[in-house]
Amino acid sequence: MKTVDPRMHTAEHILNQAVDRRLGCGRCFSAHIERRKSKCDYRYPHPLAADDVAALEAEVNRVIALDLPVTWHLEPRSAAESRFDLARLPAETGETVRVVCVGDYDACPCAGPHVTRTGLLEHFRITGTDHHDGVLRLRFKLGFPA
Ligand SMILES: [Zn+2]
Repeated sequence: MKTVDPRMHTAEHILNQAVDRRLGCGRCFSAHIERRKSKCDYRYPHPLAADDVAALEAEVNRVIALDLPVTWHLEPRSAAESRFDLARLPAETGETVRVVCVGDYDACPCAGPHVTRTGLLEHFRITGTDHHDGVLRLRFKLGFPA
C-alpha cells in the first residue's frame, strides 16, 4: 500500500461523516488521497448545490477547530460488522478490526495513517465538485490559500 498523507486522510474521515450527515449518501466508495489535493467519490443522485458546498466546508472546519483527538482501538470483526460496512478494508484484514475515532464525531474501520488531533488539519477547502453517472466527486485541499 502506498504511503498516504495522514492529514489528508484524516480529512477524508471527517468529510465522509459530514457528507453522510448532510446528504445521507454514506461514505465515499472511492478516494484518491494526496498531500496537496485529494478527491472522494460518492454515490449521489444529483450535483451538489452551492449551499451544500458551503455547509460541508463549514462542518469540516468546525470539527477541525474543535481539535478533537483522533484515536483507534481494536474490535472483533463480528462486533464491527454489525456497525460498519467493512467492504473497503484490505482483504487481509483478520478477525480483529481497527476502528478509528475522530472524537465522538466519527468512527470508521481503517488501517491507514491519521494525525492525533483534528486541529493539525488547520483549514479545509472544497476546490471543486462534479457529477457524472450518479457519482458525485468532491475535490479538496487543506491549509489556508497562499
Ligand atoms: Zn483512516
